[in-house]
Amino acid sequence: MEFRSAISKGDGVLMVVALVGCIHALFLSPMNCYGSHGEAISTTDRMYLESLSLQGTLTFDNTTASATDWGQLRSQLPPSGVMHPTSVDDIATVVAAVARSESELTVAARGLGSSIWGQSQAHNGIVIEMTSLKGIKVAPLGDAASNGVPFVEAMGGEMWVDVLTTSLEYGLAPRSWTDYLYLTVGGTLSNAGVSGQSFRHGPEVSNVLQLEVVTGTGEVVVCSATKSSELFFAVLGGLGQFGIIAKARIVLEVAPQRVRWIRAIYTDFATFKADQELLIGAAQPFDYVEGFVVLNNENAINGWGSVPFVRSDINAAMIPGHAGAIMYCLEVTKAYSAAALPTLDQVCITSSQASVPTPSWARIEWSGTAMMIVFCLRCDCDSGFLKDEVTGMATSDACQ
Ligand SMILES: Cc1cc2nc3c(=O)[nH]c(=O)nc-3n(C[C@H](O)[C@H](O)[C@H](O)COP(=O)(O)OP(=O)(O)OC[C@H]3O[C@@H](n4cnc5c(N)ncnc54)[C@H](O)[C@@H]3O)c2cc1C
Repeated sequence: MEFRSAISKGDGVLMVVALVGCIHALFLSPMNCYGSHGEAISTTDRMYLESLSLQGTLTFDNTTASATDWGQLRSQLPPSGVMHPTSVDDIATVVAAVARSESELTVAARGLGSSIWGQSQAHNGIVIEMTSLKGIKVAPLGDAASNGVPFVEAMGGEMWVDVLTTSLEYGLAPRSWTDYLYLTVGGTLSNAGVSGQSFRHGPEVSNVLQLEVVTGTGEVVVCSATKSSELFFAVLGGLGQFGIIAKARIVLEVAPQRVRWIRAIYTDFATFKADQELLIGAAQPFDYVEGFVVLNNENAINGWGSVPFVRSDINAAMIPGHAGAIMYCLEVTKAYSAAALPTLDQVCITSSQASVPTPSWARIEWSGTAMMIVFCLRCDCDSGFLKDEVTGMATSDACQ
C-alpha cells in the first residue's frame, strides 16, 4: 500500500484511466463507475471497508468537499471514500484495511487542504479528514524524556492557532511556527513549517520531541530522534508519504508578553538582502526576521498598501520614482516584557536609534508595539486588529 498524497499521473494518464474504468463499468460491472463524480471503487473493497468497526465515520457519498484545496487546480476527481476519525485506532484500522486490499486503493491524510496541487487528495482512494481528531494537552514541566523541557501534545488535525492559544494559558508558546496559524499540525509537519523564527530555532519540524505515527501497514508507532528514528525523520517533512501523524509533541518556551514590531519597505534587493543577513547574524538577534515581496501598487493584499499598520500611513507620493514593479519588505520583531520597555530601544533598530547591528535601511519604515498574540494573528485578515492594537506607532520616511 502506498500513501498517495499527490496525484502523480499526468492528465492524459488520468483520462485513459477514467476511460478504461468506464468501459470496464459499462461492460463488466456498472456499479463500479461513478462517472464524473469520482473514481471507481470495487464493490468488494467498498463492502470490506464498510464492514470495519470504527468510532468515527467512513462515507462513500458526497466526497467532493474532500477533493478541494487552496490551489483549486486538481479538484476534479473526488476520492472514493472519506473518513472522519475520532480515534487513532480509526486511522490505523482503515490504513491496515487498505493495505490488505488487493486493489490499488490509496490513502491521503488531509488537514485543511491548504496545499495547492492536490497533495491531500487520494485519487481512487480514501481521504482521512484529520481535523475530526481533536486533543491538545500541555505539559508545562515536561517529563523525564524531555529533560523538563515543556511541551504540548497535539493531535495531527489540530490547528496551530489552537495549539498557541492553549499553550498561552500556561504562559508558554511554541518557539517556531508558521506565519498563518490556520494550518494543521500534521499538515505543516509533513512539509516544514517555516517562518521568521526558523533562522533561530529551525522550522517547526526541528522542534518536535516525539510523534505518534500510523504507518503504511496500519501499525501505530511512537517515534522520536532516539526511538524508531528513521521513521521519525522520514515523516517530518515527508510530504505525507511515510505515515500519518496522529499526534505530535512540540517544544514550548516561555511566551513573550509583547513585541516591538518593525516593517520596512526596500526598493533595492541587494540592500534588502544585506540587511536581512545582518539582522540574522546579529549578536543580539531579533526574535523574528522575515522578508517578502510586495508589488509597487496600493493593493492591500500584496502591494505596498499591505505593509503599514494603518493603511493611511502610506501613499503613492512616498514611493520613490526609481522603485521598480517589485519591492521588498522586512518584518522583524523583538520580544520584551513590560518591565523591559524602558530599555527596548537599545536592542531594537528604529530610524532614530540605530543599535548593533547598524543596517543600511534604504527604506520606509513603520514600528510599533503589540501583544505577542496580536503579532501572531496578523495574517488572519478577519481579526481587524491592526488599527486598534498596535500602539506607539512611528513612521519614518527614510527612503531615498
Ligand atoms: C494562507 C496560507 C499561508 C501559509 N503560510 C505558511 C507559512 O507561513 N509557512 C509555511 O511553512 N507554510 C505555509 N503555508 C503552507 C502550508 O504549510 C501548507 O499548505 C501545508 O500543506 C499545511 O496545510 P494543511 O494543514 O491544510 O495540510 P494539507 O494541505 O491538508 O496537507 C498537506 C500535506 O500534508 C499531508 N498531511 C496532512 N495531514 C497529515 C498528517 N496528519 N500526517 C501526515 N501527513 C499529513 C497531506 O497528505 C498533504 O500531503 C501556508 C498556506 C496557506 C494557504
